[in-house]
Amino acid sequence: MARLREHGEIIACTPKCLGNDRLHDAARAAEQENLLNRPSHHQLAQVLPVGASMTDFVAVMTTKYWRASGVRLGVGFMDNPPKELRARILSHMNSWSQSANVQFAESTSDPVVRISRDQSGYWSYIGTDALLIDKTKPTMNLQGFTMETPDSELCRVVRHQTGHALGCPHEHLRAETIALIDEQKAIEFFGATQGWTEAQVRAQVLTPLPTNSVRANTSPKRQSIMSYQIPASITKNGVAIAGGIDIDPLDYEFMAKLYPMPRMLAAAPG
Ligand SMILES: [Zn+2]
Repeated sequence: MARLREHGEIIACTPKCLGNDRLHDAARAAEQENLLNRPSHHQLAQVLPVGASMTDFVAVMTTKYWRASGVRLGVGFMDNPPKELRARILSHMNSWSQSANVQFAESTSDPVVRISRDQSGYWSYIGTDALLIDKTKPTMNLQGFTMETPDSELCRVVRHQTGHALGCPHEHLRAETIALIDEQKAIEFFGATQGWTEAQVRAQVLTPLPTNSVRANTSPKRQSIMSYQIPASITKNGVAIAGGIDIDPLDYEFMAKLYPMPRMLAAAPG
């Protein structure tokens, strides 16, 4: 795994993916949690290459959201951080509850979200993938966070990683941002850190946000908290791209649709 920290530099998030051998188990777990995670026949028909295995494709395209009726996840800390730091981290995790029916609470009995602070960078597994991780292993890492870490950094990183824990992948970048990335270095970097092929890097990172996206219809200055973070080592000017620094109104709106508050459910037609 490539080291991401340059001195005083932004550490970019590299979300954790399960190995190819776990894809089918992960898709099954995701479907058991929320049937809507299964890609629709319509979606599949649009993208399935001729001759490709339908089962493999379903596994890759399955999303990893929790059930829509409310998310209650226990949080465990693997390396016994001070109580004050645990409280700060939890409060940033729970910032998503401002709009969505989600709640994180510290737990010592089989917590689903297990936080470590080792030197492997900033990362989290996506949503229900955490269910497949050995209970002695972390599902989220917040490299080197202490009470001395500025609140702006805790805010940016914990809220972003919690978005992953709630099942959100990275948002695609805007064309202006992609123009700052060195394509060849990006292909090498994501190949090394995520095991992606060139085609996957092009699809995931080097393809701009679709112009018909709801989110694209807003100010070009908008940066979702879930936008890709690009390390300095793969930009043309050697400066990292931090992405969004806080949850913005559209992020809140999106999460509220995934996990609607009970009163919204009651008010929903049908
Ligand atoms: Zn991320």
